[in-house]
Amino acid sequence: MIIIVYISIFYFGAIFGSFFTVLGTRIPIKENFTTTRSHCVHCQHTLQTTDLFPIVSYVCHRGKCAYCATKIDPMYFASEIISGFVTCLLYYFYATDLLQLLALAFMFSLLLVISITDYLYLLIPDRFQLLLFFGVVFHQMTLPTTDWPAAFISFFVIFSLLFFTGLALPDGIGGGDVKLLSILSLAFGLEPTLFIILLASLFAGFCFLHTYLTNGSSLQRRLPFGPFLAASAVVVHFAQMVLVL
Ligand SMILES: [Zn+2]
Repeated sequence: MIIIVYISIFYFGAIFGSFFTVLGTRIPIKENFTTTRSHCVHCQHTLQTTDLFPIVSYVCHRGKCAYCATKIDPMYFASEIISGFVTCLLYYFYATDLLQLLALAFMFSLLLVISITDYLYLLIPDRFQLLLFFGVVFHQMTLPTTDWPAAFISFFVIFSLLFFTGLALPDGIGGGDVKLLSILSLAFGLEPTLFIILLASLFAGFCFLHTYLTNGSSLQRRLPFGPFLAASAVVVHFAQMVLVL
């Protein structure tokens, strides 16, 4: 019975993941996400209902468009799987605390949207950063005790550190990443945020190495750091939960 519950929650999360992918794909290019029907980005063919089932449609069509057979970016499949998996973890840890569950679901959903915009367009829109900021503040308010002075010290230290690093190394960290990490530091605190940066750097390093070894040359474009930061933030959050239990 519990397996059926978790499969249902996983698929529920995957449906939301699919929706957040649409938001991340369309909002930065000002494409309407409520009236424009889903279509293949290559042949522009409007997708039918049977093409829109998260995960299932991708697997059935072997990762290709059903109409022009162009390979679909695995990002769509990955975001649905990750969203389903994270929803299961949220349910496992927070099923009895609805407010924290909502606050974290909101934060992690925004991190997914941010990852997609950074992956596709190498940008993190300020409106998503602002929503994430409100999500972080809401999350802090749902905690039994919130140490606001420590949160603001973390914010100040991380922002200063990254801001001056950005000035010294203009090609290093992007402005969007500085804002994202500063906002996350309000929720995570100083040491976990430093750990998020370290983990994201490791993930990005492995990804760079894999691409380099696969293609035999350097990357075609700048590596977006946002998805690595977002993934590391989620990993650090649940690692903290496991260590507390
Ligand atoms: Zn197509």
